Amino acid sequence: MQRKCDIAVIGGGAAGLMAAIQAAERGCDVVLLEKNSFCGKKINITGKGRCNITNTRPWDEFAPHVHPVAAFLRNAFYHFSNESIIALLNRIGLETVVERGERVYPKSMRARDVSQALTGYAEQVGVHIEFNCDVLHVRPQENGLRCTCAFPDSNLRTELLDARAVIVATGGLSYPSTGATGRGYEIARDFGHSLVDTFPSLTALMPERFDPDLIGIELKNVALQLYVDRDSVQYEEGELAFTEGGIEGALGFRVSRKAVAALRKKQRVELALDLKPGLSREQLENRITRELEALHCTRASLGPLKMKALLRTLMPERLITPFLAAHPNLNGQNLPDALKAWRWRIINHTGYERAVVTAGGVPQSELIAKTMRSRQNDRLYFAGEVIDLDGDTGGYNLQIAFSTGALAGASAAAQVLKEKPSA
Ligand SMILES: Cc1cc2nc3c(=O)[nH]c(=O)nc-3n(C[C@H](O)[C@H](O)[C@H](O)COP(=O)(O)OP(=O)(O)OC[C@H]3O[C@@H](n4cnc5c(N)ncnc54)[C@H](O)[C@@H]3O)c2cc1C
Repeated sequence: MQRKCDIAVIGGGAAGLMAAIQAAERGCDVVLLEKNSFCGKKINITGKGRCNITNTRPWDEFAPHVHPVAAFLRNAFYHFSNESIIALLNRIGLETVVERGERVYPKSMRARDVSQALTGYAEQVGVHIEFNCDVLHVRPQENGLRCTCAFPDSNLRTELLDARAVIVATGGLSYPSTGATGRGYEIARDFGHSLVDTFPSLTALMPERFDPDLIGIELKNVALQLYVDRDSVQYEEGELAFTEGGIEGALGFRVSRKAVAALRKKQRVELALDLKPGLSREQLENRITRELEALHCTRASLGPLKMKALLRTLMPERLITPFLAAHPNLNGQNLPDALKAWRWRIINHTGYERAVVTAGGVPQSELIAKTMRSRQNDRLYFAGEVIDLDGDTGGYNLQIAFSTGALAGASAAAQVLKEKPSA
């Protein structure tokens, strides 16, 4: 491994690849240190293997999907936007398509094509990639920083790399199988950074007495209302899926950030599932009356058999048994309530092993938003999920990684090039 470089980038995910590309494009000598044997292991599993690369919404509509404070991302987004990543990928030969919800995918629908395109382009612009290289720590040096790298498949050989600037793009804690170990947080702490408590976000929520018959059922055009300590805090419409983890799918994920944060504070978390959000209470009453007439039945005379026949007109067949089990006293009068607000007490959530993203991390206030540079050390930069910055599902998280990575790479390059004696 080379001993010196202008810029060392730790982590070859979306953020690290983009940081390395931007720094190398500006003429810097860049070494990308990746502990896996290839880059973009997490990119390869995104979007169920299809990779929802970004979202085409303009900043004003993009920002509400970014947490905890979107303003921190603004400079990075304008430096390298959703349009920029699409243009870059198209330029290097990867065609993209826009689908429902302004979500952008590779035309091939293969996530692997995205990671391979970016890795190939990084190498093409001169980034030197060290694979199987686990960065143990980073220490200040005169005029730079020193990375200590271990090569686990080579008798635990360690080597040192001196860089004038280091970009930490090690990701968060979610899906550890992709290489996420939280080392970036340790590096941040070593430089005196504090950390915003991390927690899994975009994850499944487990209800009390969860009925296994629900597993595998997917619902479209439904709504979820989230209650924390009985206060309504979030309302979302869309698609929902029941899995071994409980309630997930786009809707479950969207409410999970606030739900998990509340569970961690030991607050009472409840969900109300509206199976008919397109109908007002009155419209639903009328619809039930019409269906009952067709069944030659009235609310008063609604017995178990006719109830099942009625439910068949209102929900997917597989949902009927769990719905009836959850509402043992169901009758013609309380049916609209049950359909509009199927209540669930949430008692747990899936952890990092299957959470899409890690919330929390290196505090926004300890980084300079215009450069992604650390306020603790002027040669240290952070990018991607390691920062206290996360998004909803829909391509927001990869865009956060691309934007912050690109800005960190460009800023580190500007700093290093300014210091270099001109030829
Ligand atoms: C199942 C799943 C599906 C997802 N789908 C989408 C989607 O469709 N759209 C979307 O926008 N977002 C999606 N996300 C979220 C998105 O993938 C992440 O937010 C994004 O990849 C974060 O990029 P990153 O570069 O910050 O971190 P990562 O992609 O985690 O990359 C970090 C890299 O650093 C390396 N590393 C860590 N520590 C060290 C070390 N000490 N030394 C050397 N290397 C190290 C790791 O091996 C890894 O390659 C999904 C996430 C998951 C888990």
